[in-house]
Amino acid sequence: APRIGIIGSGIAGLAAAVRLRLEGAHVEVFEAADTPGGKLGELVLGEYRFGIGPSLLTMPQYIDELFTLAGETPADHFRYQRLETVCRYAWEDGIWLDASGDPETFAHEVERVLGVPAQRVLNTLAHGAEKYRLTGHTFLEKSLHSPKTWLTPEVGHALTRLHRLDLTRTLHQVHERDLGEAHLVQLFDRFATYNGSNPYRAPGLLSMIAHFEHGAGAFVPEGGIPAIGRALYDLAQRVGVIFHFNTPVAEILTRPGRQRPRAVGLRLADDRQVLLDRVVSNMDVFFTHERLLPNAPAPTRVLAREKSTSALIFYWGVDKPFPELDVHNILFSVDYPAEFAALEAGTLCDDPTVYISISSRYDQSAAPAHGENWFVMINAPCAAPHQDWEALIQRTRERVIDKIERMLSRRRGQAVALRDMIAEEAVFDPTTIEASTLSHQGALYGTSSNDRMAAFMRHPNHSRHVDGLYFCGGSVHPGGGLPLCLLSAKIMTRVMAQREPWPHNVPSS
Ligand code: FAD
Repeated sequence: APRIGIIGSGIAGLAAAVRLRLEGAHVEVFEAADTPGGKLGELVLGEYRFGIGPSLLTMPQYIDELFTLAGETPADHFRYQRLETVCRYAWEDGIWLDASGDPETFAHEVERVLGVPAQRVLNTLAHGAEKYRLTGHTFLEKSLHSPKTWLTPEVGHALTRLHRLDLTRTLHQVHERDLGEAHLVQLFDRFATYNGSNPYRAPGLLSMIAHFEHGAGAFVPEGGIPAIGRALYDLAQRVGVIFHFNTPVAEILTRPGRQRPRAVGLRLADDRQVLLDRVVSNMDVFFTHERLLPNAPAPTRVLAREKSTSALIFYWGVDKPFPELDVHNILFSVDYPAEFAALEAGTLCDDPTVYISISSRYDQSAAPAHGENWFVMINAPCAAPHQDWEALIQRTRERVIDKIERMLSRRRGQAVALRDMIAEEAVFDPTTIEASTLSHQGALYGTSSNDRMAAFMRHPNHSRHVDGLYFCGGSVHPGGGLPLCLLSAKIMTRVMAQREPWPHNVPSS
């Protein structure tokens, strides 16, 4: 069996480690940080605990699958519940809407609150589900760089239904056409941000994302999102993966090959060398090339692709409960186009949409009994040299607090003074996100999906320039977000089996 080294223990690195080990490889993971999980890390501020990164879990079956593969019962190690209300939405004109994870309930609530016929919402969700059925398996679960992917009946069927995929319209145009009502269009447009894209540019095909949340459901894990990283790390250890923490990799060692160089090991930051048969990088693909392979040829066009958005996050320990809020809450901006125009210009608008996630609502141990752990996030541009984050944070913090106070006071019918209730605080901006998980420019989801070719222009799960080098994680195919990262590990393992099989690792379809 081959000796495989994995750089990074993000969710995809952990999933890849489990899969490769179960196929009989000797697997070692080299992680720069002192804990596993990458963006799934945890932040403790006094009596309050926060997930540093993701707050929304969809498609947990891809996590379960790893335990099942190892012959274990998933619920013995990792438990989660489906949320009834997936998100509470509010607008400055006083409208509040609870979006149920059950499509029928959601559609009837939309009809009650916004006056849009329920059937219109159900049709829109069904159309998103159809897009997923037609393309999801091909684009999200397979390598796009293998001819086999394209020679299947399902691709043939999708080609006969191309007109249903809305490839020539933007996501916003699709929602204008199908939903028509301004609040509802904004609600559905927001799904573009689930992979860091812009609804006024992203293709209408992305309307399938609404189906993930309202059809397949949104979930909360016991112990919060960081529990996912811990559960997968424990599983990896049980199946025999070896971990090295505080061990940054400084270089991927290569030797010349007949057509291109071959990866033969790693040089660690302390100059130790580890000889390996294959290398998997779960590190951002841009930095893998820039920092670990400075002398190897690089896929420059792919690496230069526009990145997804980043975020500005305030982690607030709030020492009073807020009954007006649910687990996931969105306070919308008045001018959504202006918000995305500001992001494209590399800055923040004056009235950003504010997302508040409160995990202590389902994980009481994350905050003291009298308080709540608020994860307050606004979309932000990727880190760029001209930005002054100190000034942007100061200005935006005031505006965000003003907006929350204004909207909650109106709802409560009496003044709310949030400023005085923030007992603990930490702030992450695109530069800190870049530094802490080494994601190029602090992008949350790798490259953006703002054009029709985005899926084809993502870096594949193997290197075309260095043999024996593979990739998984949010910066490569099929993209960022927890479910797709888990799928990237699955696709990568299959690609490796096809390119360099070993006895226990027979290629599967
Ligand atoms: P990462 O988590 O990026 O980890 C990479 C690892 O590699 C890190 O541990 C890093 O230390 C290590 N590493 C890097 N360089 C080296 C080196 N040279 N040597 C050794 N180790 C190295 N997704 C959702 O599904 N739902 C959400 O609600 C959501 N919200 C998000 C909010 C925020 C603020 C962020 C930041 C992300 C969010 N995401 C969300 C996206 C999701 O978190 C990511 O797509 C996913 O966690 C990325 O995982 P990954 O496997 O690519 O690795």
